[in-house]
Amino acid sequence: MDLLLVVNAGSSSLKFCVYSIAEAPTPALVSRGQVDGIGTHPRLRARDDGGATLADQTFGPTEIADVAAAMGRVGAWLREKYAGSNLVAVGHRVAHGGPRYSAPVIVDATVLAALERFVPLAPLHQPHHLRPMRSLAERYPGVVQVACFDTAFHRGHPEVADRYALPDDLYKEGVRRYGFHGLSYEYIARRLPSVAPEIARGAVVVCHLGSGSSMCAIKAGRSVDSTMGFTALDGLPMGTRCGQLDPGVVLYLLTEKGYSATDVEHLLYHRAGLRGLSGITNDVRDLLASGDAHARLALDYFVYRVAREIGSLAAAMNGIDALVFTAGIGENSPEIRARVCARSRWLGLEMDEAANRAGGPCISIPRSAVSVWVIPTDEEGMIAEHTLEAWRTHEGRRSHAHDGVPEPAA
Ligand code: AMP
Repeated sequence: MDLLLVVNAGSSSLKFCVYSIAEAPTPALVSRGQVDGIGTHPRLRARDDGGATLADQTFGPTEIADVAAAMGRVGAWLREKYAGSNLVAVGHRVAHGGPRYSAPVIVDATVLAALERFVPLAPLHQPHHLRPMRSLAERYPGVVQVACFDTAFHRGHPEVADRYALPDDLYKEGVRRYGFHGLSYEYIARRLPSVAPEIARGAVVVCHLGSGSSMCAIKAGRSVDSTMGFTALDGLPMGTRCGQLDPGVVLYLLTEKGYSATDVEHLLYHRAGLRGLSGITNDVRDLLASGDAHARLALDYFVYRVAREIGSLAAAMNGIDALVFTAGIGENSPEIRARVCARSRWLGLEMDEAANRAGGPCISIPRSAVSVWVIPTDEEGMIAEHTLEAWRTHEGRRSHAHDGVPEPAA
């Protein structure tokens, strides 16, 4: 069996998915797992595609002290679990492709060096995404690695959506509105022709509402604009991130309140958003269950901002045919969907309440001027599709394949 591995690395966790590329034209999920608690209470867990447990092992902090060690442990588990299979390629989620990468790319030393230069553009994510890539390149130099970018799907934005009103030299050095969650939006755009063919060529606003939240205007399958910009802080309020903020607030914190740059970063990334507003939690389930006035305000603010951005992104496309909800909140919270749709009735949008409670996929009534959908996203599946495409192209140029789940280099 030929296998693909998809890797999504964080600061203290490493998520992975294994796909078979034997039978189907698209990769088929075989198992998914993660190593979490890296450096503190490392634990490797994995399940098969039906949810049955394949692995649940704990380790001492020094046994898996960093992401490279976690990658090594996952490699050892894969070699044992899938002995006799061929690992043909590894796909990585990468936060930032900068102005340069508008499509997935096969990783080599030049690409790694280029991606390293984008670390200042995504300091909280990019270093973690590059670490397993570097460690795999050292230990398994023969394995094809593919970098798949959260920014790539948005690189075709019109210039007015790509710019800030700042001098040109800053734009040229990379101060642009990149947009993120691109792998999620691309997955949804690729599914529309089969799930909702009547809107696939139309103007669609996709709401990716999860612990990180953003929205994207997609016209005829292409990203036109997004609520996120230079970093993944802009736009909607998130679990712990602030969303749209007057930059004057940052100046005030720095000059009047004596905040350091690190203090500001911590506030905007970790102490803001739903957690900051409610003072309770960043989890929408707990906020919905709470009777606290601050919890209510946090959810009111979230719904208000989503509804406001629907109007803004519809304007970016000169109209709107459909609204799609996805990610943790978008897929699982009928109440948040209902509240966003209630605020959007001015568009002629009419929700089907029973369909909304049932989870869709179509949750609007037939005469609604804007149809509304719930479509589960699959960022790892999108990475797997890209990795398979890139590997096939690469293999077309190369005559010899690798055999076996490879042993590390000496
Ligand atoms: P994600 O980042 O896409 O995995 O989304 C995670 C977030 O989804 C969590 O922080 C929760 O706030 C939210 N979530 C998950 N399930 C539900 C639910 N049933 N109702 C409301 N929010 C949910």
